Amino acid sequence: MAVLRLAGRRGTSLPGLIASRVSPELLFRLLDQLEQCVVVTGTNGKTTTSALLYSMLEDDRRPWLTNRGGANLLQGLLAALLPHVDRYGRLRVRRAVLEVDEATLPLMTAHYHPTLIVVTNVVRDQLDRYGEVDGALEMLRSGLLYPGTTLLANADDPLAASLGRERELTYYYGMEECPMDEEPRNEVRDGAFCLLCGQELRYERYIYGQLGYYSCDRGHFDRPEPHFGGRTDGVSAVTVRERGANERGEEFPVQAGVLGLYNDYNVLAAAAAARLLGRSPRQIQEGAKHYEAPLGRMQMFPGSPERILALIKNPTGANSVLRALEADERDKAVCFAINDADADGRDVSWLWDIDLEWFVSAALCQHYICAGTRALDMAVRLAYAGVDRGRIRIAAELSDLVSMTAELDVPVYVLSTYTALHPLGEHLRSDGPGLGRRIRT
Ligand SMILES: [Zn+2]
Repeated sequence: MAVLRLAGRRGTSLPGLIASRVSPELLFRLLDQLEQCVVVTGTNGKTTTSALLYSMLEDDRRPWLTNRGGANLLQGLLAALLPHVDRYGRLRVRRAVLEVDEATLPLMTAHYHPTLIVVTNVVRDQLDRYGEVDGALEMLRSGLLYPGTTLLANADDPLAASLGRERELTYYYGMEECPMDEEPRNEVRDGAFCLLCGQELRYERYIYGQLGYYSCDRGHFDRPEPHFGGRTDGVSAVTVRERGANERGEEFPVQAGVLGLYNDYNVLAAAAAARLLGRSPRQIQEGAKHYEAPLGRMQMFPGSPERILALIKNPTGANSVLRALEADERDKAVCFAINDADADGRDVSWLWDIDLEWFVSAALCQHYICAGTRALDMAVRLAYAGVDRGRIRIAAELSDLVSMTAELDVPVYVLSTYTALHPLGEHLRSDGPGLGRRIRT
């Protein structure tokens, strides 16, 4: 165990990999020692939601641990636990917030049942990994096939909400007031069919992607009433309304310094989970203030020009980022760093499902720069979306992209797939005047 502990101090996935080869049961032996364990899963928003929740839960008297590096497979979970193991093989920290990959959830829950599982949403993600969205939903469903664990699911996503059907101990969160569309945009809608009869769901309002107020005409299924309702204008703090506390429900604002409606969902999910774990509104508000955005989650690099780095990995996530950019009414530049390594997804056809046409017609953007191994695919995609070819530039290297942005006099948004994120973060940090910091709006 001493050897494993030493290995664990170095941090992310490698020590976990070594340890799981030594003892595949080790992870579950350690998990069994936890007094409280919250799992955050779903397609988009896992990393931000677990980081927010961690900052709301952590305090000096009752420490929590987390897999902040985003290593969310079994080895990564083990790597997060190992640094907290003492010489007798006991965990010194007995509470954990763990981001868990959808495919890993059933592997975990076959041996260990967490206290609370949060499901953010279920949307189309890297197709070569899991096949269609039904595959991801099935994995989550099979990971929840046992009683006793509390489930917290997104009411506005019909797929995530369907996981709570006929299940005890389910709570929902959802937006009660936020910027919504009357008419659907041309976005991907994976959940737009009733899972029981296959008929298209009727939407009263659309929020983004497949999220909205929906119901099946035949009465099989509709949006559950959220226990935790959110109010936001998409710019300032999220107000959380909790049902059941009294007639009106208790209300409290949470200001976490994040940008974009999809991040407001993450704030709402984290606040709801923290309430279910007994944190007070004041503790949640204090924790949210100390939240630091993880790498590439709308992370701002101050300077001139100001540069903001955002991870994109699937059409729904990319559309949410673009909508946050539309809300920024300044003239701006948008860069895309698109790689196709295994961790990004080898198949880049998802670029064609991003609603770029809308963005190009609606947003003020004069400069587009493409980089990464699939820079040319992205440039073609932009041209098809209506961007004048003269406005699209190609950067040979990620470092070139960063130096090209330095010459611009407008804010720059850099949208990046997973494997380009770390090198871009490094380049942006060394190019700018200070360290990357979270965005404040
Ligand atoms: Zn139906």
